[in-house]
Amino acid sequence: MKKTSKTKTLLRPCPICDSRQGEVLHTQKFLVPQEYLLPAEYDVVACTKCGFTYADTSVGQQDYNRYYQSQSIYEDKKTGRGSGTNEHDLKRLSEIAEEVARSCPDKTARIIEVGCANGGILMLLKRKGYTNLTGVDLSAKCIENVTSHGIAGVQGAISDVGRLLNGQKFDYVILSHIVEHVYDLRGALRQCYDLMDKDATLYLEVPDAARYSDFYIDPYHHFNIEHINHFDEVSLTNIGAVTNFSKRYAGHKTTPVSADYTWPAVFVLFEKAKPLELPLSTEARKSIEAYLELSAKDSCTEIIAELVKTQEELYVFGAGNLTYRLLATTDLPKCNIKAFIDNDSKKQRKLTYGGGKMLISNEICAPKVLAGATGTVVICSVQFTQEIEAQIKSINESLKIVKLNRTLKNNLNYAP
Ligand SMILES: [Zn+2]
Repeated sequence: MKKTSKTKTLLRPCPICDSRQGEVLHTQKFLVPQEYLLPAEYDVVACTKCGFTYADTSVGQQDYNRYYQSQSIYEDKKTGRGSGTNEHDLKRLSEIAEEVARSCPDKTARIIEVGCANGGILMLLKRKGYTNLTGVDLSAKCIENVTSHGIAGVQGAISDVGRLLNGQKFDYVILSHIVEHVYDLRGALRQCYDLMDKDATLYLEVPDAARYSDFYIDPYHHFNIEHINHFDEVSLTNIGAVTNFSKRYAGHKTTPVSADYTWPAVFVLFEKAKPLELPLSTEARKSIEAYLELSAKDSCTEIIAELVKTQEELYVFGAGNLTYRLLATTDLPKCNIKAFIDNDSKKQRKLTYGGGKMLISNEICAPKVLAGATGTVVICSVQFTQEIEAQIKSINESLKIVKLNRTLKNNLNYAP
């Protein structure tokens, strides 16, 4: 019978998406000594928002740091993993060193492993000819082991590694079987980001929770005190995505643990995400430039020049955009303008011009002013030329009419 899970408000908000709601998949209990630094119980939950599966533990990053500092099981070179002193561990570490070498052929690249334990991977890389290697671990004993092999070592936590390295930049950061232990995942990945130079690579490997059931070892074995994050390829990619990394490629493998069994692991190679590049907008500019060319060709210069020459009595019909533009950009003000005319009664008024007296009419009149007029009417309207022409004729048939609006013939969609 399949157990139905219940939703809870999380003690530890989702370390990937910060959601506060999760479904309880399992409650794991331990009997621990009184002075033990980690909790004796936690729920294994699935985030309701991003699906990430992890331990909803009641303690924080500082408690885990203290635990790993004081109770590390990785110091002992014989029993602790990560030193490569037994055959299976050596094979596991060799595979990682191979992947690093494949993705980083430059032997002088600045490589740092955060959570290096006894430095097994770094030693293998040194043997391959890599010359610029640094290991970071919480345990002083581990760092002693690392430096005794001529590799730079720094004691400290992943949550603090950027500060510890004091602005030093690296070309390659290795995080092998570390982040499944880390409480503050985003904090840790941001610290690693700060360590990385512009084109640097992050190698991130963890147990592959998507295959726990395919590699069944022991009941509840994966829900141990230290493993508090259970990744699949998607959630591993997601933690990179929320900390500004983009995936270059991912791989799945089985890693030897002992003579009896292997563990599934998943890794992702990340690079710093490229800042969003805005695509260049070109179409509007292209059309605007063509439009300006058409506009320049279509000016009313010749018609207006003729009206200036004759100084015939002129009525400008239309007190809108077109008129204002022509007054400012052509010789229209040099014509003998008797009045401006507009059908809009709100526009009909006396005008005052800024910048002193102008020689042109200072009045916008109603069309009826044309009844007793002689001379010429110039129609300055883009949309209503025909209507205005008919209107003028109905008021005073003897007036000469000039139309300035000739733009439509350049419209590709204009059918005369
Ligand atoms: Zn989530």
